[in-house]
Amino acid sequence: MTSAIILAAGRGQRMGTELPKQFLSMGDGMLLTKTLRVFEESRVIQDIVLVTSEEWVGFCKKEIVEREGFRKVRKIVIGGKERYDSVYQGLLACPNADYAFIHDGARPFVTEDILVRTQEAVEKYEACAVGVPSKDTVKIVNEDGFVESTPNRKNVWTIQTPQAFSYPLIRAAYEVVRDNNMTGITDDAMIVERSKLAKVKLVMGSYQNIKITTPEDMKWLM
Ligand code: C5P
Repeated sequence: MTSAIILAAGRGQRMGTELPKQFLSMGDGMLLTKTLRVFEESRVIQDIVLVTSEEWVGFCKKEIVEREGFRKVRKIVIGGKERYDSVYQGLLACPNADYAFIHDGARPFVTEDILVRTQEAVEKYEACAVGVPSKDTVKIVNEDGFVESTPNRKNVWTIQTPQAFSYPLIRAAYEVVRDNNMTGITDDAMIVERSKLAKVKLVMGSYQNIKITTPEDMKWLM
């Protein structure tokens, strides 16, 4: 069984809107609704845990899950301060999963093709993350803004979600990393990388699978 943990507990401070970005409206509905619908309709996802902040639980239940009739959303849980705290709360809520997909609620352009590719990869490799080869050259810079090095572009991917893991592996990886002070964790693959329990396979995503993050991204919501 595959459970999807959809993250919607962020405040969206970089967006600068009153409303957290996952609740902004898109052409025909709400950003988070569009994201959830892709998982609700997916043939590889059996249930969904929605993670949000305490003040949004009632809204998510009434205005999103009940109103849209999302039958796979079995639990709505309260997230934490950092993204990885929210992921951990989501993991605790689906202990019977064989595989856990973790996905940003603010990434509505994910497709069924991406979910299927991710399911195939997680069954084979136990840990995988969706991403795309970087179109731009990437520089490693120091604190003063001077270039330190330039990785070979053919080895550079930018990482998206979903990221998917065998459930026992991601739980074990969290326990290892939690015992060793978590800092600077910006995606789920990093938890597995730091735990050294498995290698993370990359899965081809799409250049459209963006995360709505800053005001410039609002144009995609039309
Ligand atoms: O802040 P960022 O853009 O990296 O957030 C990515 C996703 O993680 C968003 O969907 C956001 O709602 C979620 N998040 C969360 N809990 C946090 C921080 C972010 O669920 N503490």
